[in-house]
Amino acid sequence: MMDAPGSYRINIAIDGPAGAGKSTVARLVADALQYVYVDTGAMYRAVTLMALEAGLSPEDGEAIGRLAQRLHIELIPGPDGQRVLVDGRDVTDRLRTHEVSRTVARVAGIGSVRKRMAELQRAMAEGKGVVMDGRDIGTHVLPDAELKVFLTASPRERALRRYRQLGEGAGVSLEQLEREMAERDRLDEGREIAPLLRAPDARFLDTTGMGIDEVVARIVEWSREAARTFSEKEK
Ligand code: C5P
Repeated sequence: MMDAPGSYRINIAIDGPAGAGKSTVARLVADALQYVYVDTGAMYRAVTLMALEAGLSPEDGEAIGRLAQRLHIELIPGPDGQRVLVDGRDVTDRLRTHEVSRTVARVAGIGSVRKRMAELQRAMAEGKGVVMDGRDIGTHVLPDAELKVFLTASPRERALRRYRQLGEGAGVSLEQLEREMAERDRLDEGREIAPLLRAPDARFLDTTGMGIDEVVARIVEWSREAARTFSEKEK
């Protein structure tokens, strides 16, 4: 267990494309620092799941926007990772299905959905001590985060990681996954509102060929530096 960086708490934004390892890394960094981990992708997935369940078309931005507005989404840290509750119902195990993954980037392109999610996310980070991962955290949701990291890896490695995560029984080939992830990246990078973009002040980390421990240790080190710098500034 690594030490927390003193008592000065910062916010950490981790952005990057699909399959870069953001959620695994962000969760471990949060554990090491005793911070709260916020998986913003899970929030967009939760809205997508509920929209699919309600039979809404992903093109129906107005109806999905209204749905997002009234959903009560909670992220609860637990021993087996974060659980996601929607209106009190645990939907965690249904957020990573192929259908949700295929649809989520279109739902995440709806302006009213993004506005609502960003409001909820900012409220979660108000007290500091948060590690938040997503696509627009450093650029849009928490532009004042004391540490911003842009995490990526080669497209093949990202697809391979997702493939292993899903398991061979999922019925999706590596090639299909790579194609679908490229399509999701294209939508995430190309959307008008809060696209996937590296913030100019974000540290860039290409994790191709790096082990998870190494990536986590690097970010924890950067967090300590950032906490020191910002606590000095306040003195
Ligand atoms: O991180 P994850 O792959 O679970 O995210 C699922 C999708 O949610 C992304 O492909 C993206 O379309 C959307 N998303 C987003 N902004 C975020 C986090 C996720 O648009 N901050």
